[in-house]
Amino acid sequence: TTSAVGTPDVSAAVALPSGKATLPTGLFINNKFVPAVGGETFQTVNPSTEEVICAVSSAQAADVDLAVAAARQAFKTTWGKHCPGTERGKLMFKLADLMEEQAQVLAEVEALDNGKPVKIARDFDIGDSVACLRYYAGWADKIHGQTIETNDLQKLAYTKHEPIGVCGQIIPWNYPIQMWAWKVAPALACGCTIVMKPSELTPLTALMLCELIVQAGFPPGVINCVPGIGSVAGHALTYHLDVDKVAFTGSTLTGRKIMEAAAKSNLKKVTLELGGKSPNLVFESADLDQAANWCLLGITYNMGQDCTAGSRVYVQDTIYDTFLQLLIKKFEQVKVGDPYDEKTFNGPLVSKGQFEKVLGFIDEGKKAGAKVITGGGRQGTKGYFVKPTIFANVTPNMRIVKEEIFGPVLSLASFKTEEEAISLANATTYGLGAGLHSNDAKQCMRVSGALEAGTVWVNQYNLLNNNVPFGGFKQSGIGRELGQYALDNYTAVKAVHFNYGEELEWPPV
Ligand code: NAD
Repeated sequence: TTSAVGTPDVSAAVALPSGKATLPTGLFINNKFVPAVGGETFQTVNPSTEEVICAVSSAQAADVDLAVAAARQAFKTTWGKHCPGTERGKLMFKLADLMEEQAQVLAEVEALDNGKPVKIARDFDIGDSVACLRYYAGWADKIHGQTIETNDLQKLAYTKHEPIGVCGQIIPWNYPIQMWAWKVAPALACGCTIVMKPSELTPLTALMLCELIVQAGFPPGVINCVPGIGSVAGHALTYHLDVDKVAFTGSTLTGRKIMEAAAKSNLKKVTLELGGKSPNLVFESADLDQAANWCLLGITYNMGQDCTAGSRVYVQDTIYDTFLQLLIKKFEQVKVGDPYDEKTFNGPLVSKGQFEKVLGFIDEGKKAGAKVITGGGRQGTKGYFVKPTIFANVTPNMRIVKEEIFGPVLSLASFKTEEEAISLANATTYGLGAGLHSNDAKQCMRVSGALEAGTVWVNQYNLLNNNVPFGGFKQSGIGRELGQYALDNYTAVKAVHFNYGEELEWPPV
């Protein structure tokens, strides 16, 4: 029952716009697709049609044990300190090339499983993921420590940045391929081995990437993949005594459980990328048309299912009415519909659960007295489509203003002074992203300095670069992904004290 491309019991046929495809649906351990030991599966659903796509093997604790053992064996024999960085880099470049070649079919499956538009999946999620693999492939042979002079002339101290070991990586459903790349690329570059747990809502593209891992020529066990339910497979990974590190992206609630698991098991290292309730500030000197474009992108990109979603927009009172009119026009131009259509900007939300959660927040906002300016409900009668929504007349204590909605729902309010804007922006337990729009350079410097967020965008929003770090202040996370900073997550610093002269006299006195 094992095969590199999936035997019938661990594969499924699906119809895609570009033709029929057979997708792997097993667990991926030691470069083979296998069913769960106990045969468990879960179903994954197409959010545009609400129909089941296929069943996928569901990892249990015993399966996670097998995957961790495979990763440990690879770490001890073919990867880690046993494979030079240059070789690791070569394999990663090859994987990036394969991903680029397969971009269209990967994008179609991402659209099928997650609902995001195929064009955006291909040009942004996958384009950026290929670039991320290449960025870290370049790092693979450039990870080194320092030589340090001590006050003893007969000794040399130096540091080595050693791979941390077996890494559990738990990712969410909002960017299934991109979060995979952000996690896998720096870990591979540093020489770590991986047990990846994709979200149970979007497991399909992570498994397709496993086929590319085999084709690229990675040794067995370097990357393993265990789709499964968070409280089962994710739980087993985070409590596992032979996992050295867990990297997680997802909700703040689950992030807390992951830290607790690390504390109660083996104190494995933990990095967390969590939620947000990010503000966008629009000052009176801003280019209002541009500011409206960025604010729109901030809340409608990926249907608002974005950890940095600019879900609170605060506008200076002198320009509030003009800005609101601009924003309404732009919101009403967002094309919501079939993710396979190249012109679609917003597909459905990912799942029934997310759809109901977002509609629940919209109802709650209405009941609390906020005013729906545009949108305000479901679009159509089938699929989890939600109209891009603006709430005005919001007050700071409303749940729609305080809690992460993770949908295309914006709260709009005004401010009078810069101080008030900063204080409204920072009035949150989160600190992931923040934006400000102003043509006053001194104001941009003052306000960007005062905002409590790991990423501050000035006169733009939501754009990231693979070589610039990303992560959260406050309850939005611990550690940084992307850039050189992410290498710290996957290396352990060893200090070597080398004596080439001092003789120890004994007894010392
Ligand atoms: P989630 O926390 O429910 O799930 C994320 C992942 O964790 C999934 O793979 C899930 O199976 C797993 N998981 C769930 N319970 C677990 C447990 N007890 N132990 C181990 N693993 C467990 O979040 P979600 O619904 O998939 O994603 C949406 C949330 O993620 C939002 O709150 C969003 O803000 C956040 N997010 C943050 C970032 C970031 O970079 N900071 C990026 C994307 C999403």
